[in-house]
Formats: sequence, structure tokens, C-alpha cells
Amino acid sequence: MILVTGGAGFIGSNFILDWLAHSDEPVLNLDHLTYAGNLDNLAPLRNDARHIFVQGDIGERALVAALLARHRPRALLHFAAESHVDRSIDAPGEFIATNINGTFSLLEAARKYWHELEGADKDAFRFLHVSTDEVYGTLGPLDPAFTEQSAYAPNSPYAASKAASDHLVRACYHTYGLPTLTSNCSNNYGPCQFPEKLIPLMIANALAGKALPVYGDGRQIRDWLYVGDHCAALRRILDAGRPGEVYNVGGQNEMTNIDVVHTLCDLLDAEAPAAQSYRAQIAHVTDRAGHDRRYAVDAGKLRRELGWAPAENFASGLARTVRWYLAHRGWAAAIASGAYRDLRWTAGVAP
Ligand code: NAD
Repeated sequence: MILVTGGAGFIGSNFILDWLAHSDEPVLNLDHLTYAGNLDNLAPLRNDARHIFVQGDIGERALVAALLARHRPRALLHFAAESHVDRSIDAPGEFIATNINGTFSLLEAARKYWHELEGADKDAFRFLHVSTDEVYGTLGPLDPAFTEQSAYAPNSPYAASKAASDHLVRACYHTYGLPTLTSNCSNNYGPCQFPEKLIPLMIANALAGKALPVYGDGRQIRDWLYVGDHCAALRRILDAGRPGEVYNVGGQNEMTNIDVVHTLCDLLDAEAPAAQSYRAQIAHVTDRAGHDRRYAVDAGKLRRELGWAPAENFASGLARTVRWYLAHRGWAAAIASGAYRDLRWTAGVAP
């Protein structure tokens, strides 16, 4: 059994589906179902006894302790977070509560549980903290990509809260010996991403005939990784990563935001043609405050030490993603109407 936090969100749900496609080891999924949690993401597992869902907050220490004591997972993968930079600018408090205090509380519960394990169970336990490349701040146009040695320089409340959580995880390893692993990944894209993030937002707005808002000149550069490749990296890190180590995860695929939007419009023009090109809907809007200009991730350590490499290139991954959103318009409609918040499971739910 593994315990996953935030498994009803974008990456967590993709991870659980990917995990159970590769293994029969059950997953206990602890998710608070904030606005970003959507049980529809896990619809294929609705009657699958290998997945147990628990609605709860990572900061509820007694609940987490009870789940650990009862289900005795061999690993904890921590995805749960407030994850949207724009929301962190408008209302940073939730980011401090979940990303910092919540992670701290989870670490405390995990540490106590691990401390009481014995022998091989204790040696095998891992706490994998899923984090972001945004903790490293921004790069100039000619700077080399971020490595695991890059200094932390977070620029948004989101990035600062994730940086703080990374430091707490690090301290827990160095001070108490909890066998932690940390991954810092670049921008993910793929199925089930909440339509506030760039790629699903553009697809939803394009199809709805709305403006495609591009911050500033749109020349901000991000590295993009298909979510399935991130999931494979996490499985690999969990299997073979060395406790206390940090692994950068990235697609070696730097793109400006405006190029991403143009590519999306071209794919939609081909797959769902409208009266005029979707590019006509692009509208430049005032840039985000403190907007980082460029992120690039050097994933060489993960490649060299653990043999991971992304399977998907951006063109094929984006085409696959566009086709998924076109084939799952009901998924997006349930978010737009708010109906997704009423989804509740009665099967496979732990008391
Ligand atoms: P998301 O916003 O889609 O999902 C977050 C999930 O966490 C939701 O299901 C939500 O209900 C849950 N959650 C929030 N607060 C909680 C709490 N207090 N207790 C329990 N559950 C809670 O996020 P995502 O994009 O899937 O990101 C997952 C993780 O990966 C985050 O830690 C994020 O920082 C990291 N990450 C994301 C990206 C990316 O491009 N999306 C890149 C690198 C790292």
C-alpha cells in the first residue's frame, strides 16, 4: 500500500491511474477536495478495490496518524498543495496553510509513524515530496538551466510556500533521518488539468468562443513535460532514488507562452475547425505581477543516476492532450457548471 496526498488533483490523479496500470499495489488517496480536487479524474477507478479514497486535510494530524496506523503504507507520496500562482497572488493565506503548515503536519505524522516501524519496513519507507522548479526563481535568456545545486530564489507566494516545504522536508531528513526524496518538476500538461492553467484554459476558452488571455508579450519561457512522463519519473525516484536526495524533472522543452498558444490554436484548427482560426481570439492582457521570465530544468541527474527520460515530445504530447479535452467535453462542462463538486463516492471509501 502507498499513501498519496492530493490524488484527486491533476498530477495526483494521473499518478494513481498510472500506478495502478503498472502494479496491483493498492493506493490510499487522501484529498481534501478543494476546488482543484475532482473525483471525476478518477472515474475509471470507481469500482476498483485497489483505490481507497479518503476526504480529508493533510493538516488533520489525528486523521493522518489513524490512516497510517491502520493501512501501514510503505511509502507516502505528497502531491497535495495549493498550486495556482495567480491565486497565490490574490490570497496567499491558503498557500501558507496547506503548502507549509500542512506539509509540516504531514511530516510530523510520517516521522512518528516511521520511527515506530521496525527492521525492513523501517528501511524501506520513503516520503516522496512532489515539488516545482519555481522554487529556483527566474533565469536570464542565456543562463544555464536549473540544477539541484541552484540557489532557491522563489518569486511568487506559491513558489515561496513550496520552497518552504522543500526546506522542511530537507530538514526532516537531516535532523531526524526520515528517508525523504524531493522532486522539482517543470510545467506539466495533459489530461485532467484544472482549466485555470494555461493549456486547459486556452482550450476551454477557444472552444467557448472566448478571448485567449496571454500575459504581457507572451514571451515568458517555460519548460513543458507531459504528465505521464512526470508520473514515470516519480515511480522511478520512489523505486531507486537515494534518501535525502533531490531530483529535477523536466522535458528539455523550452517554449514561450505565445508559441504554446499558437501551437494549441493550430491543433484546434485541425481537430475542431471553426469559422475562423482560433488565433483570432488571442488577446494580450496586463502581465502577472512578479512574472518569472524563464524557467529551464536540467534533469541530467535523474537521467544519469536513475535512467529516466521523457517518452513524449511536446508536439505529440500536446496533440494527445488536445484530443483528450475534445473527447471529454463533459469533464470540462462539469467544472464550468460546478457540478463536479457534488461528485461523492460511496464505494472504496475508508472510514
Ligand atoms: P492541483 O491543484 O491540480 O491538485 C492539488 C490537489 O491537492 C487537489 O486535489 C486538492 O483537493 C488537494 N489538496 C489541496 N489542499 C489539500 C489539503 N490541505 N489536504 C489534502 N488535499 C489537499 O495540483 P497539481 O497541478 O496536480 O500539482 C500537484 C503537486 O505537484 C503540487 O504539490 C504542485 O506544487 C506540484 N507541481 C505541479 C506542477 C504543475 O505543472 N502542475 C509542476 C511541478 C510540481
